[in-house]
Amino acid sequence: MKNDCPCCGSENISGDSVEILDSEARQSVGCADCASEWVDVYTLSRREVIAAPTLDHVGSIQRI
Ligand SMILES: [Zn+2]
Repeated sequence: MKNDCPCCGSENISGDSVEILDSEARQSVGCADCASEWVDVYTLSRREVIAAPTLDHVGSIQRI
């Protein structure tokens, strides 16, 4: 992840809140040194399941 200004290379940058759209996340970022603004765009690279569903849970989903 790049953590410097794409215009002047300064690390004196700060981002707003992250907005997630489908598999893409966008964050508006600004540079305090050169006053430029840009959007960092993150894409979903993978999903890792950390808790597999129990059989009971799967059954309840299928009944709906
Ligand atoms: Zn800058």
